[in-house]
Amino acid sequence: MLPPNTPIALPPLRILLVDDQEATRQVLVAQLHAAGHAVEQADSAESALTLFRQHAPDLVLLDVEMPGHDGYWVASQLRASEAGGWTPIIFLSSLDQDHNLWQAIESGGDDYLVKPVSGTVLQAKLRAMQRLRRMQNRLIELSDELRVANEQLTRISHEDALTGLPNRRGFDLRLQQEILSAQRDQTPLTLVLCDIDFFKGYNDTLGHVEGDACLQQLGQLLRSLCRRPRDYPARYGGEEFALILPGTPRSGAMTFARALLRTLELKAIPHPCSSIAKHLTLSGGITTCVPDKTSSAEGLLRRADEALYAAKSRGRNCFFSFEMQMDTREQRGNGRLPPASLA
Ligand SMILES: [Mg+2]
Repeated sequence: MLPPNTPIALPPLRILLVDDQEATRQVLVAQLHAAGHAVEQADSAESALTLFRQHAPDLVLLDVEMPGHDGYWVASQLRASEAGGWTPIIFLSSLDQDHNLWQAIESGGDDYLVKPVSGTVLQAKLRAMQRLRRMQNRLIELSDELRVANEQLTRISHEDALTGLPNRRGFDLRLQQEILSAQRDQTPLTLVLCDIDFFKGYNDTLGHVEGDACLQQLGQLLRSLCRRPRDYPARYGGEEFALILPGTPRSGAMTFARALLRTLELKAIPHPCSSIAKHLTLSGGITTCVPDKTSSAEGLLRRADEALYAAKSRGRNCFFSFEMQMDTREQRGNGRLPPASLA
């Protein structure tokens, strides 16, 4: 704790001193240097504007009476050039009428000192400006911290805590964007909804800790299969996952589904209470379209969901697409379904 009356150390200022009289500038520069400040000197309105742009000073000390444009004009130009910014301006003038001060403040000045300025008064004003400067810097720091915190919050609110994949909220936003993008570029967009088969039984038998580990493993697996930068795997909710595959036609969607089923088969994550396999399996619904003006996220989700239901009703462990009227299981040749052709 500092004892009372101990001056608080404040960082020195970078000052732009504007005065057409060299003798006046010399006296002021000596005082400012003695107080530890750095000074740039301008002898006219024009050079003041140039140096202000070049050096972005912390403070401007501005003479009123100068040949050509006066200090009021300089102040209004500086204010106009700082959109959203604020650099303090203190006028120095031998004019001591009330209306001179009024005009100075109206033109954008923050304070007005009558020349000759006492060294003590000038130092006191500069200390006040240093405190304001410190406060302004702190506000800038705080608003930066707030921006970073907001970005983190947005990221977290779009992320599923368990799997680290985007959650439903993130997925919904991305789907809207990808539909618009595919509409604009007239490229195919594929949406996949998939669901772990008999997951309730998995949880009931092995417990929720194992169930969570299983969801995490599946999340990693989906992420590893999404190799293109815009492929977007998400946890849709519970044991449901959704994938957005931009620029993916029907054939590509089926290739993806087969690769996913094959990877699951190879991984062979044990599933103790599945009636169709010893390992974890997925059922999935696929929809692919080149979106037009009538396409909507709800419409795509409904079609994918209906296809998922069809995959479940066809015995699970397969992917189904109404657009193709094709079932991945046929391609795997287990013969449980009659052959179907591409629509
Ligand atoms: Mg002058």
